[in-house]
Amino acid sequence: MSPIRLALVGLGKIARDQHLPAIAATEGIELVAVASRNASLDGVAHFATLTELLASGEAIDAVALCTPPQGRHAFAAQALAAGKHVLLEKPPGATVSELGPLVSAAQASERTLFATWHSRFAPAVEPARAFLAEVAPRAVRVTWKEDVRVWHPGQRWIWEPGGLGVFDPAINALSILTTILPRPVFVTGGDLSFPSNCAAPIAATVAFADADGLKVEADLDFLQTGPQSWDIEVDTDRGTLLLAKGGAELSLDGQVLSAQPEAEYRNIYKRFVELVETGGSDVDLAPLQLVADAFLLGRRLEVAPFHD
Ligand code: NAP
Repeated sequence: MSPIRLALVGLGKIARDQHLPAIAATEGIELVAVASRNASLDGVAHFATLTELLASGEAIDAVALCTPPQGRHAFAAQALAAGKHVLLEKPPGATVSELGPLVSAAQASERTLFATWHSRFAPAVEPARAFLAEVAPRAVRVTWKEDVRVWHPGQRWIWEPGGLGVFDPAINALSILTTILPRPVFVTGGDLSFPSNCAAPIAATVAFADADGLKVEADLDFLQTGPQSWDIEVDTDRGTLLLAKGGAELSLDGQVLSAQPEAEYRNIYKRFVELVETGGSDVDLAPLQLVADAFLLGRRLEVAPFHD
């Protein structure tokens, strides 16, 4: 099979940091075009917008949408209507309900729609899932604290409606949680701290439960300087399981069970190639649904304004 000819839409931080090297390292896919208003790549066909790219007749099979979540639905709908396979950065959209029509459009046009959750491809996530399938969890603590100024420098969209604020990184924790726990969890309450000049929260505590009464507490912060915390701790009969470093490292009572080099985006593109070759799609909305429910049920608190 000839390689999938891919166009990257939105050449920003994550496209440069992760997508470009992962595409280059993945067999069966090649970058042939970029659609980005303010950025281009040497030696790759450039278009300011997806509309211009699709109108140009440039031969592409697929698009990877690395734009902010607001507006991604329109790009995905446009690409599917043009007969292209679509890879969505996380979160897959700005709302849960906008994804249904995309799934239907992908089915109708027999194209692949892949809603990626990069943290699910972290190396210790599968070992954690396997461990928790054997040993019942008793309580779960999620600590997801990072420095927005490091990871999202100057990104205004993250503070706008649909930008998710601290839930932009925290949805990665939820993508892991919804993979490793044996039963689905649902939101039972929370406090969301909104800077007075922002439409999205900068910190939050959220409580979850499952049907058997398992309690999950999440402590989320976007102003963490120094060491960053991307940890999920699970109390079990066999000890405390710690999935640390965003899913890269697994330990039980301090003893390391799994620590391997990360290859999240390479595994994303490997999976995309498989999905396209087999005619499949992969769209799981559980993490986005939990964020939406936190916004529905969480108490809204106003805190000091945020300035980059
Ligand atoms: P970013 O640096 O702002 O890049 C997004 C790019 O999309 C921009 O450079 C811009 O390029 C284009 N764009 C199109 N419409 C836009 C609009 N209305 N507002 C702003 N930019 C627009 O953002 P990012 O950090 O790469 O994040 C993009 C997506 O990747 C988000 O969904 C995010 O959650 C996800 N992600 C980010 C990280 C991270 O560490 N930053 C990690 C994993 C996933 P042009 O101006 O050239 O059109």
